[in-house]
Parts: sequence; structure tokens; C-alpha cells
Amino acid sequence: MISKIIAEELITKVNKAIDNVDKIVIVAHIGPDGDAIGSSLALWHYLMTIDKEPVVIVPNPFPSFLSWMPGAECILDYENSKEKADELIADAELIFTLDFNTASRMGKMADTVINAPADKILVDHHLHPDTYAKIKVSYPEISSTSELIFRLICRMGDFSMINLACAECIYTGMMTDTGGFTYNSNNHEIYVIIAELIKLGVDKDAIYRKVFNTYSEDRLRLMGYCLFHKMKVYPEYKTALITLTLKELSQFNYVNGDSEGFVNIPLSIAGIDFSVFMREDTDKIKISFRSQGTFPSNKVAADLFHGGGHLNASGGESSTTLAVAVKKFEDALPDYKDFLE
Ligand code: 5GP
Ligand code: MN
Repeated sequence: MISKIIAEELITKVNKAIDNVDKIVIVAHIGPDGDAIGSSLALWHYLMTIDKEPVVIVPNPFPSFLSWMPGAECILDYENSKEKADELIADAELIFTLDFNTASRMGKMADTVINAPADKILVDHHLHPDTYAKIKVSYPEISSTSELIFRLICRMGDFSMINLACAECIYTGMMTDTGGFTYNSNNHEIYVIIAELIKLGVDKDAIYRKVFNTYSEDRLRLMGYCLFHKMKVYPEYKTALITLTLKELSQFNYVNGDSEGFVNIPLSIAGIDFSVFMREDTDKIKISFRSQGTFPSNKVAADLFHGGGHLNASGGESSTTLAVAVKKFEDALPDYKDFLE
């Protein structure tokens, strides 16, 4: 048995909302990761099995290491299918927003979703959920939205409706949001859920290989380049920084997702508790933060780069040049010294 974390009144509300409708849109955040796609597809599979008409729409394409996921071929991305997506969102009778807390994380599709007449149901594990949703299933203590989807389906009395495809999607989101169960993963109930998923036929070893061991040669060489040439270490602040320009990315034939996980690597250095990765994009600098222990990476993200997230994993962006963003970061490092353990 797992504990009943989701409030009973929320279960009733979600059940009722689903009962009354057919056309359901599921949206996840920009730069979709394993949990965004995992939770969205898990919900999609579940809704299909109860004879609804769900569709998953994401703001931009997801990385190729997730393309094996069952149902991934049916996902629409707003960048490439704007017209169809706008139509589906406007026509939807119910919209689930998964794995993000603020509307801005929907990028260019935020306005369409917010202005759509359908009621919104937020299911998420980030702090401070926005006000746009009529029903908020927000539990920051849960390590992935995919786990929340499992809990939601079970509490609605539909464990038996979780098929293998749905279980694989749930497992993938749980695995990726915890770095393969290496952080934010001490809640013993995670493993009770995994046991159930394995009983349904999930091959966890195969999923690990499909997600973490299917990168391109270019990506591995880019990683080597980052570590050898681009990693700056600030031992007095227990911090490391990696930056990549657009020019460098193109030298390694960068495709979406190729730098996934780079930010975690410097944390494997003894004495490094805070790691930052800045990647130049066409219109902004995208910044990822990771920390160990009590160092609040999300505070740095919010204070300096309009971002946020979890204590140990957060992100933000900058509209300045890369050099200016680096200078801002380096100048601010002394301000966070007191947070180091
Ligand atoms: P990643 O570094 O993998 O892109 O993001 C890690 C976590 O940081 C995400 O799960 C999300 O919680 C948060 N995050 C990433 N980018 C942003 C951002 O631009 N704004 C906010 N508020 N949170 C972000
Ligand atoms: Mn997540």
C-alpha cells in the first residue's frame, strides 16, 4: 500500500471533470524532458483506455532519446503544428497542464491555453503553482509528475487501467527526474510503485539503456570538449560553470537534447556542490543549475536569471550576451557563500 497523498476532494473533482467530457488536451512544458513526456503520455494512455479522446501538445520538439516511448509518435509540437494545435486547444473540453507551475513555461502556446474556454487541471511537483488552473494537483514533495499521475490513476480506482505502455511512460518520468534514482529519490514508496510497474511488465533495465545509452557520437565528443576546454571551477565557492556558444554547438552538429545532463557532471568532483550550465540559444541564454545538499540552486536561478525550480535542480534564462550572463553570475557568487555547507 502507498499512502494517500492526494487529497480526496481533488480526486473527486478530477474524476468528475473527466467523466463529463471527451475532448481532452494534455500540455507539458517547453524543453520537454522525460518527466514532461512520461507524465503526458501516461495520462494519454490512461485516458485512451477509458475511451476518451486525448491529445498531447508540447511547446517545442522533445529530444530523440524519448522518441521510443509508446505514443510519442502522436505528440504534436506547437513549433511545427501551430494551426492544428490552436484548433485542438480552443476546442478542448478539458486541459491538463503537466510538470510545470507557471504559464510562461508553455512558451508561445501559453496565451492560447490560458484563453481557451476549457477548465484546466494542473498536475505538478514544483513549488508555487500558478492561478490559471481550476483544479490544482500540486505536490512538491513528490519527485516526479509521472509518479503523481500513477497516484492519481490509482486513487481514481483505475489501477487496472494502467497498461504496459502507460506503465513504461510512468517509469521513464520517475527515472529521469531522479537521475536514475540517484537524487530526490529516498521516499521508499517510489520503490513500491516501481515494483507494481515491473509486475505490469516494465523492463527497467531496457528503459535505462534506451534513455541514457543511445546518444550520438557528436554528443559524446561535445561532452568531452565541455569538460576539457569549457569547465571553469571556482573551488572557494564549491562551484563549477560550463558555457557553450551557438558556434561551438554547431561545430558538434548540436541537436535538441544533446547537452541534456551535462550540468550534472561537475557535481562528481569532490568538493563541488553547485554546478551551472549556460547554453547560448538563438534568442536567449538557457541556464541550468544543479546543487547537492542544502545549497539553494533555485534561489540563484530566481535571483539572477528570472528562473526557479527545485532546491537541487532549477533553471532560468537571460536575454543578455553569454559574456554578460557569466559576469553577472561570477560577480554574484560571493553572495551565496553562506549557503555552502
Ligand atoms: P533543466 O535544467 O533540466 O532545464 O531544468 C531543471 C528544472 O528547473 C526543471 O524541472 C524546472 O523545474 C526548472 N526550470 C528550468 N528552466 C526554468 C525556467 O526558465 N524557469 C523556471 N521557473 N524554472 C525552470
Ligand atoms: Mn518533473
